[in-house]
Amino acid sequence: MYRCPECGSTNLEVVVEVWATLIQKGDGFETDTTTPTDANHEWGDNSAMRCRDCDAQEIAERFETDASDSPSSES
Ligand SMILES: [Zn+2]
Repeated sequence: MYRCPECGSTNLEVVVEVWATLIQKGDGFETDTTTPTDANHEWGDNSAMRCRDCDAQEIAERFETDASDSPSSES
């Protein structure tokens, strides 16, 4: 579970790395992120993460919380 360390929001964004087709045209380069179609979006504990509610930005590791920390009713 990932949760904003500042405001507790789970409305988050993370920077991902994705495989893209490299298109080389003369001296220029373009990337096509729509191919390959099986491209994995990769991110980890050191990826940048941002809270959409309060704009706090840290590495993902700082946002990780133990699921047991979440306020939930005891059953
Ligand atoms: Zn926040």
